[in-house]
Amino acid sequence: MKKVLITGGAGFIGSHMSRNLLEKGYEVTSLDNFYTGNKRNISDLIGNPNFTFLMHDVTIPFDGYFDEIYNLACPASSLHYQRDPIKTSKSSVLGILNVMDLATKTNAKVLHASTSEIYGDPLEHPQTERYWGNVNILGPRSCYDESKRMAETFCSDYFHHHGLDVRVIRIFNTFGPNIEKNDGRVISNFINQALSGEDITLYGDGMQTRSFQYVDDLIEGINGYMGLDQGSLNNSLKNEGWFNIPVLNLGNPSEISIKSLAEKILDLIPDSNSDIIFNGLPKDDPKKRRPDITLAQKILNWNPKISLEEGLQKTIQYFKEFN
Ligand code: NAD
Ligand code: UDP
Repeated sequence: MKKVLITGGAGFIGSHMSRNLLEKGYEVTSLDNFYTGNKRNISDLIGNPNFTFLMHDVTIPFDGYFDEIYNLACPASSLHYQRDPIKTSKSSVLGILNVMDLATKTNAKVLHASTSEIYGDPLEHPQTERYWGNVNILGPRSCYDESKRMAETFCSDYFHHHGLDVRVIRIFNTFGPNIEKNDGRVISNFINQALSGEDITLYGDGMQTRSFQYVDDLIEGINGYMGLDQGSLNNSLKNEGWFNIPVLNLGNPSEISIKSLAEKILDLIPDSNSDIIFNGLPKDDPKKRRPDITLAQKILNWNPKISLEEGLQKTIQYFKEFN
């Protein structure tokens, strides 16, 4: 039976990953300090003999023998990662170092969760893995963006200098059940505002865009990626002209303005009496974002299947039951 460690396992994506790998028969250890995660996300897994929870901070070294490590520990919402920016950078940078040290000692395969934020406020559109990004090193988002960039550099250096089997994913805006109600990200904000009749807080003029992926599509992409043996993964990447460490965009290329997103959510909750109000745009908020997923399509034969509307309906249902 494969043994896996998921750091950030009580968070939004980590809890879906844990459930999915348990269903596949893996032995799952979930490590989390509940900085943004929640016991409720994993409460149904407690008591499963193949599931272990480790209350631990990823910035402090840890031990164990695992075949695979999924490194997800880091707050992902700008509200939370800006709350204590130094802690955010440490979670990313010390976290990946601790993961890499353990993986090197025990020869574990690593999946590292990077982000579309490493492209910053992009000057190329859509963003391919080859784009180096446009990131402010001194802004309010820098603690997240730059520490995620540094983490990718560590992945690359451990790959080249220690021969580690490390695979990086750059996740684009992902949503679904288990996002915290007060997480601060746009979809959970808008749905909860619409359900409770509060004003929908649109930042800026709402013309900035994002491309939203439902969480099940992400999990399927991760499984396909981790399922490839190292030799065939590297050969497929070389055939596509990618000669670096494995790095993949995983996201849904269907792009929408944030204003249209607010209108769509109101359409899906027709009895809402919320109004849309316009607030200031946060500093360095990226103006547009859309993944180029050609590489993932070619090497994984992967495509997101769940439309924004279908994903929103599932997430609205989750928050209705949650409230
Ligand atoms: P989340 O905030 O729900 O989950 C993060 C988890 O990490 C939480 O359970 C939190 O308690 C835990 N954590 C944070 N700091 C920790 C520390 N120092 N020690 C131990 N645990 C710690 O966010 P998410 O959306 O599930 O994101 C998971 C990963 O995916 C993150 O690394 C994030 O950067 C990345 N990502 C997510 C998205 C997205 O749209 N959801 C997009 C890009 C990248
Ligand atoms: N946003 C908004 N209202 C909110 C929360 C977010 O208009 O209540 C906007 C935000 O300014 C950004 C977009 O929605 O342009 C996506 O924000 P989120 O924090 O979800 O993701 P990120 O900016 O990190 O991609």
